[in-house]
Amino acid sequence: MAEKQDLMEKIVSLAKRRGFIYQSSEIYGGLAGTYDYGPIGVSLKRNIERLWWKRFVESREDMYVLDTAVIMPEAVWKASGHLEGFTDPMVACSNCKSRFRADHLEDKNKCPSCGKTGTLGEAEQFNLLFPVERGAAKGGTTTGYLRGEIAQGMFVNFKNVIDSFHPKLPFGIAQSGKAFRNEIAPREFLFRVREFDLMEFEYFIRPEDWEERFEYWRKEMWAWIEEIGITKENVHELEVGADDRAHYSKRTIDFEFDYPFGRKELYGLAYRTDYDLSRHAEASKENLAYLDEETKQRFVPHVIEPTFGLGRTVLAVLVSAYAEDELGGETRTYLKLPAAIAPYRAMVSPLLKNKPELVAKAKGVFDVLKKEFGNIAWDDNGNIGKRYRRQDEIGTPSCITIDFDTLENDTVTVRDRDTGEQKRIAIAELASMLRA
Ligand code: ATP
Repeated sequence: MAEKQDLMEKIVSLAKRRGFIYQSSEIYGGLAGTYDYGPIGVSLKRNIERLWWKRFVESREDMYVLDTAVIMPEAVWKASGHLEGFTDPMVACSNCKSRFRADHLEDKNKCPSCGKTGTLGEAEQFNLLFPVERGAAKGGTTTGYLRGEIAQGMFVNFKNVIDSFHPKLPFGIAQSGKAFRNEIAPREFLFRVREFDLMEFEYFIRPEDWEERFEYWRKEMWAWIEEIGITKENVHELEVGADDRAHYSKRTIDFEFDYPFGRKELYGLAYRTDYDLSRHAEASKENLAYLDEETKQRFVPHVIEPTFGLGRTVLAVLVSAYAEDELGGETRTYLKLPAAIAPYRAMVSPLLKNKPELVAKAKGVFDVLKKEFGNIAWDDNGNIGKRYRRQDEIGTPSCITIDFDTLENDTVTVRDRDTGEQKRIAIAELASMLRA
């Protein structure tokens, strides 16, 4: 356990040191449960999101995408059941005033913060939605809510998508974006925060097909987990029991990951039935039924929802990629990230910074690669060993060095991050090597 705790500390410290993730508003003491992504973290996060988009949207013909508003009116959350049911059980300590999730307590009689026994009161349900006052008129404002899940934006636009595109069942509506939850006890770095990114889709189906579609998306989620470089052996399915399922779900599988702080949810796969569309149809008085052109049947489609937390993905990817070994007699740290999501695909550097002919040649190579790949780093700081170490820590798969031989024969050394091995490659072959 101490080793695992140590791993978490190492990851948090690397994330800060190398510009992946910072505590939000840190110079003011930090805002609990919120993090900011730094330059390297933004690249990692965007690459993951881009890959998700490519796999689940662009490579398919049955997905329609949206980008919906973050603030939604009270009526939406009332109809969706979130005003009533989007709650966690909370207990407060009468001694130190700390608050906890009642279902996360190891010892129900002992306060985990001050250690006193018998000071935790009765559990009460705490709603996680963030209310927002909208409008400027005194006494005339209305209450909206920051979205606690991005799904509702897709349900309330179901009719718009149908009317514009007349999609045939089954089809999905996908989006990615921020969600907000007033978590009782945010903790474990990116794992439980109050503001986070989600990537998900609502997949609309005929009711009788739900088991088959559920199985299909379950397999697709595993394929994604593999593609993204999360250690498969550390992911486990959990069949969520009826008492623990969200209010809208008839079947849920959680994909749990072995984080250094324990086995906890990474993703969810839920069968939401026709719950959301039916509730919105009833509350809005809009007809949200689907007309099957072939059978002329009219019915409310059912929904399978695979949901992917982006922050938890970043964390699981970092935990899976983090490695230490001995190289050249020294201990080194590196991130064995898949090339498709590494913040930089490659780093280019002149062997010596003070040799203008090497620098000019290296700049030429850098410019060509940068134009094609975009995420190419330039590093001429410190000696070459230091540059390699730096790139290892941010997971750059290849380091390209321009030396005196390059000036003679247009070849460069390419160093592999994982093995530390170097080979000589012609400049003309670099782009195809990086593309592979
Ligand atoms: P938990 O039981 O951990 O509170 P949940 O069951 O409420 O999670 P869902 O409603 O299924 O979570 O949320 C969908 C996804 O959003 C989760 O699988 C997870 O990846 C992500 N997620 C949920 N809550 C948070 C949070 N507070 N911080 C970061 N990611 C989150």
